[in-house]
Amino acid sequence: KAKDLGRNMYQIYDPSMNKRSYQSFLMERDLRKAIMNDEFIVHLQPRVDAITQKTVSAEALIRWMHPELGLVSPGEFIPLAEETGLIIPMGKWMKRKVCEKLVEWREAGIPLVPISVNISSQRFLQKEFASEIRDLLREFQLEGKWLEIEITENSIMKNEETVFKTIRELKDLGVKIYIDDFGTGYSSFNYLKTFQLDGVKIDRSFIQNISSESENASITTAMIKMAQHLKLEVIAEGVETKEELEYLLEQNCHYIQGFYFGRPCATEEFEKRFLKGALVVK
Ligand code: C2E
Ligand code: MG
Ligand code: MG
Ligand code: MG
Repeated sequence: KAKDLGRNMYQIYDPSMNKRSYQSFLMERDLRKAIMNDEFIVHLQPRVDAITQKTVSAEALIRWMHPELGLVSPGEFIPLAEETGLIIPMGKWMKRKVCEKLVEWREAGIPLVPISVNISSQRFLQKEFASEIRDLLREFQLEGKWLEIEITENSIMKNEETVFKTIRELKDLGVKIYIDDFGTGYSSFNYLKTFQLDGVKIDRSFIQNISSESENASITTAMIKMAQHLKLEVIAEGVETKEELEYLLEQNCHYIQGFYFGRPCATEEFEKRFLKGALVVK
C-alpha cells in the first residue's frame, strides 16, 4: 500500500513540479499520510441560543495533529485539500467521526445536541452527496435532525438542478442546511427563495466591532431582518465580546457562536462544559 501511495505521489508531483512549491508538495504528501494514519481531530464549538444562552448545537471543526508540526489549523491545509481532492476522503472521515460521537452520546445517556459539519462545495456539488448522508444516517441509526450541514454561497451558485435535488433529499432526511460565511460570497440573494434552506450564519467579518463600526452594524441588521422575513434562522459567527452579543440581542438574532461563549475544543471538554449537568444516570 505504501508503494502505491509513493507511486501515486510522484505522478501527482511530476507534471506540476515547476508550478508547485516544494512546501506544498511536502504538505500534500503529509496530508495523504495523515488520512491513512488518522492524524485528524474533531473540535467542537457551541452554538448558543441568544436568549436562553443554552447550547443548541455544535459545529465540528477539523484539526490536524501533525507528527512534527503539532496542531495545524484548517486554514492552512483545507485549500490544498480542496485543490488535490483530498477534501473528499477528509470529509468522509469527518462525517463518520461526527456520527460516532452522536451515537456515543446517545448510548452514554448524554442528551445530545445536533452537530453541524462543513461541506466543501466540491463534495456538495457531486450527485451522490445526499445518498452518502442517507447511508451514513442509516448505518448509525441516526435521525437526520442530529446532523446539520454548512455550505457556502458558492456551493449553490452552480449546477442548479443537482443542488435542487440534493437539497430536497437532505430536507426529506430531516438534515438542516445552513449558509456559512453569509454575506461574503459572490452570489445574488436569489437562491434564498429558490432553495429550502434552514438558516444563515452571518460571517465573522460583519460581527467584529459591530457596536463601534456603523457599517458592520447596518449590514448585520439588514441581514438579520431579511433572514427573518424569509423565515430563516440567523446565527452570528465570531461573537467575541459582550457588546457584540448585546447588539445582536437587540436585533433579535436567534443564535450566537463565538469565543464569547466558547472556543472550539476537544470533544471531551465540550461534553464537560456544554453538555454536563444534563447528564443522565443510566
Ligand atoms: P467556518 O466554518 O466559518 O468556521 C468558523 C471559524 O471561525 C473556525 O475557524 C472557528 O474556530 C473560528 N471562530 C469561531 N468563533 C470565533 C470567534 O469568536 N473569533 C474568531 N476570531 N474566530 C472564531 P477554524 O476552525 O480555523 O476553521 C476555518 C475554516 O475551515 C472553517 O470556517 C471552515 O470553512 C473550514 N473547515 C473547518 N473544518 C472543516 C471541515 O471539516 N471540512 C471542511 N470542508 N471545511 C472545514
Ligand atoms: Mg462553518
Ligand atoms: Mg463561517
Ligand atoms: Mg468557512
